[in-house]
Amino acid sequence: MSYQSINPNTGQVTNIFSQLNDIELEKHIETASDCFTTWRKTSYSERSAILIKAAGLMRERIDDFAKPVTMEMGKLLEQARGEVLVSADIIEYYAENAAEFLAPQILTPSSGSAFVENSPLGILFGVQPWNFPYYQLARFAAPNLMAGNVVMVKHAACVPQCAQAFEQLWLDAGAPEGLYTNLFISYDQVNRVIDDRRIKGVALTGSVEAGRSVAERAGKNLKKSTMELGGSDAFIVLEDADLDRAVYWAIWAKMNNTGQCCVAAKRFILVEPVADAFIARFQQALSALVPGDPMESATTLGPLSTESALLKLLEQVERAVTAGATLVMGGKRIDRPGFFMEPTILTNIAPGNPAYNEEFFGPVAMFFRVKDEDEAIALANDSEFGLGGSVFTQDIERAKRIASSIDTGMVFINHPTWTSPDLPFGGVKNSGYGRELSSLGIQEFVNKKLIRVQTLDAPA
Ligand code: NAP
Repeated sequence: MSYQSINPNTGQVTNIFSQLNDIELEKHIETASDCFTTWRKTSYSERSAILIKAAGLMRERIDDFAKPVTMEMGKLLEQARGEVLVSADIIEYYAENAAEFLAPQILTPSSGSAFVENSPLGILFGVQPWNFPYYQLARFAAPNLMAGNVVMVKHAACVPQCAQAFEQLWLDAGAPEGLYTNLFISYDQVNRVIDDRRIKGVALTGSVEAGRSVAERAGKNLKKSTMELGGSDAFIVLEDADLDRAVYWAIWAKMNNTGQCCVAAKRFILVEPVADAFIARFQQALSALVPGDPMESATTLGPLSTESALLKLLEQVERAVTAGATLVMGGKRIDRPGFFMEPTILTNIAPGNPAYNEEFFGPVAMFFRVKDEDEAIALANDSEFGLGGSVFTQDIERAKRIASSIDTGMVFINHPTWTSPDLPFGGVKNSGYGRELSSLGIQEFVNKKLIRVQTLDAPA
């Protein structure tokens, strides 16, 4: 593994970064540890001032932040700008609300008085993915810094400039050295960091495989962890759905970030009466996408993040077809430089097909036809993943009933699963555990400490 910027539009290596050696890594942990001894004593308003400044800097320098995203992982520039703004919103949200979320909880014991206070734990370690190179970092850093913890991050190897830009952001915002530390380290060093007694919690966002490895190591060390892993979200369209809106959102849900979202719609589940019309319109919309340089505003189909991501997806499609799936469109690499893949539709995916239980991380849509609502729910739940999902129908009460029957962490009605600072984000089953964002996200890495006041003569 090496930390390098490769432009996915051209395939050219543009920058290579050296990894930390163990002595450098130790120095960084020591600095973070020293920082915690003072940061834990700061007030919410002192912490908030730094976060507000950081959010402001992201907005002010939007293109300085957005361009490295496009150059390193190929996100369309306009979407990269959107990511910068939502990251700023998350940072500001916690700056403004953390004190209230973490206020002491007053209890009413049978005698005396008691409260639960939320104290910071120490240094937290995050392992983060490339698909939203700032949003993921903001989701991890902002609540935890406001809680009085300090953070260290191993970012994905393909977005090193984004990793550095986010670290520099905190220094520019006036953060003390060691409050936020980027680590260019190997998997072995990741394990060593998790083992280190100064590290008090671990948060990973990424694939199931990475989650298993990091969660196992954290578990061995009896350290709290949160896991935000992959998904294979169902997008259910019922017979009474508004088809125009459903198709519009289906394209968005599939193609935003070139399909490289954990909560991208991956399994379209259509009841028979709407299936043909829906697939035809969806296919037409996919055919109209224009591949090209993600820096250009005319481009509507960007590249995948890396060559290996593209090859993996092509291979998954090939295996699906070999196992009996029908390739309705696409399935090939686009004949041009860079890591582009044709928008792809697969149908007839039977339960024994490997595609049935895999996550397709890119512009590949799987379509399933069902008889009715009950079959739609059963199929949505027949997955090892449990992240998000969507239901499209004009009957909101019916949609709520269906949403309650779906085994995922999030279900959106008449909208793709998406994110907002004030809504919890996370999954169940192989999609992981724990929640980020909202008032829940800040509760994951705090010591909920009981303090009890008793009179000296109270009974035991
Ligand atoms: P990935 O390959 O698992 O990588 C994620 C991070 O884990 C990277 O920093 C990676 O480092 C590191 N990593 C991988 N294997 C590791 C190991 N054995 N030991 C230590 N570190 C390890 O995932 P990705 O391809 O970057 O991201 C896509 C996945 O993330 C998808 O499955 C997606 O659904 C999921 N995701 C989930 C959420 C959510 O909130 N649930 C959000 C976004 C993405 P290197 O880059 O150096 O390999």
